[in-house]
Amino acid sequence: MSAPEPAPKPSNFIRDIIQDDLKTNKYAGRVQTRFPPEPNGYLHIGHAKAICLDFGLADEFSGKTNLRFDDTNPSKEETEYVDSIMEDVKWLGFHWDGLFYASDYFDQLYEWAVQLIKAGKAYVDDLSADEIREYRGTLTKPGKNSPYRTRSIEENLNLFERMKAGEFPDGARVLRAKIDMASPNLNMRDPVMYRILHSEHHRTGNKWCIYPMYDYAHGQSDSLEKVTHSMCTLEFEDHRPLYNWFIQQLGIFPSQQIEFDRLNLTYTLLSKRKLLQLVEQGHVSGWDDPRMPTLSGIRRRGYNPEAIRNFCAAIGVSKTNGMIELAMLEHFLREDLNKHAPRVMAVLRPLKVVIDNYPENRTEEMDAVNNPEDPGAGTRKVPFSRVLYIEQDDFREDPPKQYYRLSPGREVRLRYGYFITCTNVVKNDRSEVIEVHCSYDPATRGGNAPDGRKVKSTIHWVSAAHAIDAEVRLYDTLFTREDPNQTEEGQDFTANLNPKSLEAVRGAKLEPSLAGVTPGSRFQFERLGYFCADPESKSGALVFNRTVALKDTWAKIEKGPQQKK
Ligand code: ATP
Ligand code: MG
Repeated sequence: MSAPEPAPKPSNFIRDIIQDDLKTNKYAGRVQTRFPPEPNGYLHIGHAKAICLDFGLADEFSGKTNLRFDDTNPSKEETEYVDSIMEDVKWLGFHWDGLFYASDYFDQLYEWAVQLIKAGKAYVDDLSADEIREYRGTLTKPGKNSPYRTRSIEENLNLFERMKAGEFPDGARVLRAKIDMASPNLNMRDPVMYRILHSEHHRTGNKWCIYPMYDYAHGQSDSLEKVTHSMCTLEFEDHRPLYNWFIQQLGIFPSQQIEFDRLNLTYTLLSKRKLLQLVEQGHVSGWDDPRMPTLSGIRRRGYNPEAIRNFCAAIGVSKTNGMIELAMLEHFLREDLNKHAPRVMAVLRPLKVVIDNYPENRTEEMDAVNNPEDPGAGTRKVPFSRVLYIEQDDFREDPPKQYYRLSPGREVRLRYGYFITCTNVVKNDRSEVIEVHCSYDPATRGGNAPDGRKVKSTIHWVSAAHAIDAEVRLYDTLFTREDPNQTEEGQDFTANLNPKSLEAVRGAKLEPSLAGVTPGSRFQFERLGYFCADPESKSGALVFNRTVALKDTWAKIEKGPQQKK
């Protein structure tokens, strides 16, 4: 028997480029990619898109992918970030071939800089940062040559070496590539290659006080690793001529840069710098706050890596930046959880129900289905007794029209239990209902009446004597605006923070099967949504995060346009 045909992959222009290169044997049939995070923060869902492309496309063509830390900015980089990035890539389900750091290449990069100086292609400039900016010109105005541009090769070699030796303070001099100050592409107007920064590096310590700029380090690192297809986001499109210029001048392995669109999500910020601000200013509890779009945040929130990979495959890649609906990500999340999350009963805001005609000391074990989507998931027993909790929302003393849940005189079904009818209520001195009394029909055990009579509503419940207590954290979007970057004059994005993004519900009651759950376990609380046990859970004091509510708004939108431009 032959293996089943794999489903055809949706087309993707980067896949097309790779296929063409394989056809023309451009890289001797090799596909080598890399994922190059700067270790200056935690990875977010935008990075997941890049990871799925870098690793996913290489896998598709039996290629290899390196994880390379782009650690050329010593003051911002920390080992904590390196560790979290490795953990997150693995969690997403990918395995790197080589593990590298741009700082591994500092010696080689320095040698190549010397080579460019010797070839008359780089020079030491004494202009200040402000002067360099001024001399650079604008899109409509050509730049001016620096007066230091014509320094002799000997003087450049001498000064560059002294820069490296630590003779000059930060900002005193830079090394620049000598290209064309009149180029229509600003990146080609003698870009800075090295700056002086007396700053300790997380790996090289105090060995260096000059550090290469992104544009000089990145392409050369790709080339050293013989990367064939170097994917990056669209803002680097204008840097591609410079990427190619360095490779040509140095005559090194011709890696090729391919740009794709950054992921933007509604109600979400995807920028490590801004996410760091949220953490530092205490707007969230940390990088892994379940409201954060970081991989550690959404993992804690309850996302499965499959859901993220499926989402990334569905959004594909393009050559124009757009905005994806958060609802689309949540759609893939629900689709995945619906298949895998066991169902349980939990009551978030309990209202006591006493079944007056049910024997005081009796407990019955009701059969409950663990997952109707997965017959292999089996069943469990849920204890039923005389005093139960139901949701406050599932009772109305004066039910509005079309409210079919419990109300005086109304009969409803208790899920996996019996039909009950409300007979009377007990109120406190503020006239609030604090206890609902009911009678049950013993003939309806399991949820159906032998006489075939119908009820219009089924509600969930837990047995009061058996329930376990929990705190349940409900989340809304972290920002109230679709585009959190859109602000009024004088405000920054924090003005768009949603003051109601977290609601902690204490005193929730859960069915006893949840007593021993481990952090990270995911469940569907019937009728309420998907929930995940939080690492702050302790035995006897469980904490659950609502991953997502049940209602799928995306399924309705799906027929309309997916991209918001
Ligand atoms: P940030 O602005 O969040 O710091 P970055 O682009 O500076 O993002 P890097 O650590 O340099 O972050 O990114 C590593 C890789 O991930 C790069 O190839 C980058 O293009 C890609 N990437 C970052 N953000 C996104 C995003 N929102 N969508 C797709 N790819 C992204
Ligand atoms: Mg960056």
